[in-house]
Amino acid sequence: MSHTTDAHDYPACCHADNGDWLGTNDTLSTPVSADGTPVPGQTYTVAARSGRAVRLKAGQTIRIINTHGSQVCDTWVFNSDDLSEFLSMEHARAHIDRIIPKPGDELFSNRRRTIATLLADTSPGIHDTLIAACDLHRYTNLGVSGYHDSCADNMRLALHAIGLRAREVPQPFNLWMNIPVRADNSIAWLAPVSAPGDYVDIQAAMDCVVVMSACPQDIVPINNLNPVDVQFCVTH
Ligand SMILES: [Zn+2]
Repeated sequence: MSHTTDAHDYPACCHADNGDWLGTNDTLSTPVSADGTPVPGQTYTVAARSGRAVRLKAGQTIRIINTHGSQVCDTWVFNSDDLSEFLSMEHARAHIDRIIPKPGDELFSNRRRTIATLLADTSPGIHDTLIAACDLHRYTNLGVSGYHDSCADNMRLALHAIGLRAREVPQPFNLWMNIPVRADNSIAWLAPVSAPGDYVDIQAAMDCVVVMSACPQDIVPINNLNPVDVQFCVTH
């Protein structure tokens, strides 16, 4: 299948949804395992500009580590039995009465039940739940010609690498993305305020798939204009 690099059109060959990638990278060939099951306790890397998907059983916890402190990690959680259910930030915000979850907060799915819980956060707690995953259209709008890695494609590719497909790209939980909302309701796009080694722990409330993308944004300074890797580890 050929892939378009047009600004806003999808190839006619593709599904009538948002599940198909528009270009590829190493994400497709670097799953943690064939079906995404991790080795508990093993530390994995999400390479700069890439994505990875990992299965969690209910009760397992994933630690996502901002190795360099300066990197945004777009994060999704899908019900592994039915990928049409996923962590939904708009539903999560309504449940916790906050725009940024804090430790102890339940993370709600689009069916308004707990899909995961944010257990711990060693960073200052600045994350984003408002901004869509970057995608090829975003980079086209920013003046990029041709293909550019994106969190949306990383999610699609990471799922495909373990044999799964979602029909949409939900609003991610954008770990460490620093998008302050000003008093006049405008927003800013700033670098993360986290330190190297800061981490969040997210515990699965159901069997699920967590997808992470080390955001390749290198035009807007949310990654200090230098996209790098992040790491993660799954524990019981
Ligand atoms: Zn991104």
